[in-house]
Amino acid sequence: MNMSLTINEDEDMETISYREHIREVEDFPKEGIKFYDIAPLLGNGAIFASAIAEMAEPLRGNVDKVVGFDARGFVFGAAVAHQLGVGFAMLRKPGKLPGEVAHVEYGLEYGTNALELQADGVSEGERVALVDDVIATGGTAQAGIELVRGQGAEIVEFTALIDLPHLGGSEAIKALGVPVRPLVTTRQAE
Ligand code: AMP
Repeated sequence: MNMSLTINEDEDMETISYREHIREVEDFPKEGIKFYDIAPLLGNGAIFASAIAEMAEPLRGNVDKVVGFDARGFVFGAAVAHQLGVGFAMLRKPGKLPGEVAHVEYGLEYGTNALELQADGVSEGERVALVDDVIATGGTAQAGIELVRGQGAEIVEFTALIDLPHLGGSEAIKALGVPVRPLVTTRQAE
């Protein structure tokens, strides 16, 4: 399915297809992986602004903070936080954050990875939106959910530019009780 945004400016109806601004690169970073390159979307000011507005506006008045994933989730997450006028916190790869940090390891296809959140990254009772660029297997997302919930914050939604539902990540996120809202859903056959 190719989701698109309809902007209603008086009588002018403009339909934006984000999909056209995402470059699909076969066999990157390794054989058999189709990489969704968001650089063309970021490089187009009007499309980038529209994507941020579509990610942010349903959250307006309903979140205290946005939390983004290292590294492309920072690009979208910080812009969404700025648009909403709320704070932003970073889920980072290990060894990047100073001071007291919470640490969660998660499995990859081969080996493990980890994410960290500073102890004061989010607060007890804070209403948080998690933002990333792509939901694939959902391992990264699940680690982020564990870290944010571990500090007592409530996760309102997981917002992403692209969901790859055939990899199971969005189902795994929903199974943890977190609603998922991607702007683009891309199935394997497409
Ligand atoms: P996962 O933990 O498998 O859901 O992977 C999600 C993270 O890896 C996101 O932060 C994405 O930036 C990145 N990622 C995974 N698969 C892809 C892909 N096919 N194209 C672009 N980025 C991806």
